Amino acid sequence: MGEKQSRSSNRYSNRKRSSYGLRSSNRNKSSFGLRSNDGSSDRNSNSHRRSDRNKDRSGHRRVRPGSLLTELLYPLRCPMCQRVLPPSGSDPALRSWRGLVCGDCAKHLPRIREPYCLKCGKELNDETEEYCPDCAAGTHFFTEGRSLFRYEKDLRGSILRMKFHNKREYLDFYAAALQEMGGPFLKRTGVRCVLPVPAHPGKTRERGYDQCLLLAEKFCQRTRLPLLRNVLIRTRYTVPQKGLGTQQRRANVRNAFALKKDFALTEPVLLLDDIYTTGSTIDACCRVLRQNGIRTIFFLTICSVRAGDTEGMELPDETTARKAPGGFVR
Ligand SMILES: [Zn+2]
Ligand SMILES: [Zn+2]
Repeated sequence: MGEKQSRSSNRYSNRKRSSYGLRSSNRNKSSFGLRSNDGSSDRNSNSHRRSDRNKDRSGHRRVRPGSLLTELLYPLRCPMCQRVLPPSGSDPALRSWRGLVCGDCAKHLPRIREPYCLKCGKELNDETEEYCPDCAAGTHFFTEGRSLFRYEKDLRGSILRMKFHNKREYLDFYAAALQEMGGPFLKRTGVRCVLPVPAHPGKTRERGYDQCLLLAEKFCQRTRLPLLRNVLIRTRYTVPQKGLGTQQRRANVRNAFALKKDFALTEPVLLLDDIYTTGSTIDACCRVLRQNGIRTIFFLTICSVRAGDTEGMELPDETTARKAPGGFVR
């Protein structure tokens, strides 16, 4: 097993132990798995693991995560153009987004610029408008939301590779981007906890991972916001949203989510997802939250389609992505 893989699976299992992902204040401690619900029994096993963690079974020194050697053996690639990034010898989980993308792509990221909808954050075509048609019609249940990028070109390929082709190493870049570029939004809204939009367990099993949960883990590690895992849960399998109109999408995800019983949430909450299209999934989550008395709900996603772009809405779909291994559908 590659160092990178074992490193991420260790981290995952260590964090999984903490109750609802409420992280300890000491980042190093939690990433070395020192923290547990009861604390005591783990501490011994972990101190043992810690002394051995740089050695393999035969006692040979292992390559340290984030070391120059690790990067030479398992080079990081640009999540946009897939070129190998020059090794820097620092842990990707601690780098800024600029250190996780190539220089060319950093300059040409399709960042969402003004004018954007003041409610859902979609980029608008008309400078004189403040809201997209959906938000102007007042059809959403969330308070406000933002996305970082337009879902187009290289970014679309990157997201599809991450979602359906196991490119989990891109998550460090996206988590860093969400923290840094989304920083002003997070600060202004003062969100208190993070709820990842849950994938259906069947889909997670099929793919082998829930990319949104992994993204939320990395995001919360960086922002130090509490991650509430398995609090918002998916209760029903939904058909892919591709090819469905807004009304059909709403019907498709309605009642697909539930909130863990008797769990007290601290407002305002932040829903985290990868793509925002019609907002039907976010709205379905909000409906459940509101039924449970939560009123202030923000969302943050990696990307969104431009207001009125129905073509983009068709793309975030598993079957389409599988037909195109490179992730490009056009
Ligand atoms: Zn690049
Ligand atoms: Zn809007």
